[in-house]
Amino acid sequence: MININSSPIILDGRHVANEVLKNVKIEINEIKANGKRVPGLAVVLVGNDPASETYVGSKEKKSIELGIYSEVYKLLDTTTEEELINIINLLNANTNIDGILVQLPLPKHLNTEKVIGNIHPSKDVDGLHPYNLGKLIAGERCLKPCTPLGVMEILKQYSIDIQGKKAVVIGRSILVGKPISLLLLDKNATVTIAHSKTQNLEDVCREADILVAAIGKPRFVKKDWIKKGAVVIDVGINRILENDKGKLVGDVDFENVSPLCKAITPVPGGVGPVTIAMLMSNTLEAYKMRSEE
Ligand code: NAP
Repeated sequence: MININSSPIILDGRHVANEVLKNVKIEINEIKANGKRVPGLAVVLVGNDPASETYVGSKEKKSIELGIYSEVYKLLDTTTEEELINIINLLNANTNIDGILVQLPLPKHLNTEKVIGNIHPSKDVDGLHPYNLGKLIAGERCLKPCTPLGVMEILKQYSIDIQGKKAVVIGRSILVGKPISLLLLDKNATVTIAHSKTQNLEDVCREADILVAAIGKPRFVKKDWIKKGAVVIDVGINRILENDKGKLVGDVDFENVSPLCKAITPVPGGVGPVTIAMLMSNTLEAYKMRSEE
C-alpha cells in the first residue's frame, strides 16, 4: 500500500512494478533454496519490428534478473504459420518452460488467433487463449492478460476504491479493454465500455469515477471529459514526433487533464512497467498452477 498526499497523485508504475517484482523474486529464491526447478519463460518474436524487439529484450532481461529460466526465439518475418506452431508445440512439451509468450503484433501473413490458440492454456502467460478468457468471464482462477492485471495492481497498491464506482473503459480489444472491464466488474465497479462507435463519448467519460483509456490515439482524452476528482488510468503508448524529437505519450492529454484528477498514471512510467512485472508474476503463477496439478 502506498501513502501519498500530493494532488493529483501520480500513480508511479515503476514503484508498483518494483513491489511486484520484489515479491516474485522472494518466491523464486525460496524455490531455489528448496532445490527445485525454477520457473521458465519462452518468448517468441517473429520479424524485426523495433518496438517488439525492445519489449522482448526487456522481458528477457527481467527474467534473468529474477532467476527465471529464459528462452528467446527470434524468427524471420518469413516464418510460416506451420513453422511457428511447430515451435509452440515443442515449447508446450518442454517441461522446463512454464510460460510461452508470442510477441504481438505478428506479421500480417500469420493468423494471431490460430497461433495463440495453439499455446497450451496452462502456459498462456499472456492470458489470451480462449480457455483463459472464458475462465476470466466465469470469474475462475486462470492466467489473465498482463496489462489489465497491471491496471488492477496499480489500483490495489494505491488503495483506490473500486466497489460501487462508475468505471468507463475506452477501448474493447481482447488484449486490453475487454479484460480490464471484466476485472473492474469483478471488483464490483459499474462498468461502461466505450469504443469508436460510442455516441457522446465526452458525456460518457464525464460520468466516470475511474476512467481507463486504451485507444491508441495520442492525447485523445481531453480535460473537459473528466469528472473532477476522477482516477485516470492511461494505457495508451503512442510514439509521436514533437519539436523534431521522438517521444512517448499516452491516450490522455496528461498536462491538461491531471490538475482535475484525484490520481493519474503518467506515460511513460505508468501502466507500461507494471505490464512486464505482471508477465513475471504470471510466469510464477503458471509454474505454481502446473506444480499443483
Ligand atoms: P486496439 O486493439 O487498436 O483497440 C483500440 C480500441 O480503441 C478499440 O476498441 C477501438 O474501438 C477504440 N477506439 C479507437 N478509436 C476510438 C475513438 N475515436 N473513440 C473511442 N474509441 C476508439 O488497441 P489495444 O491493443 O487495445 O491498445 C490500446 C492502446 O494501449 C495502444 O496505445 C497500445 O499501444 C496500448 N497498450 C499498452 C500496453 C501497456 O503495457 N501499457 C499494452 C498493450 C497495449 P473499436 O473496437 O470500435 O474499433
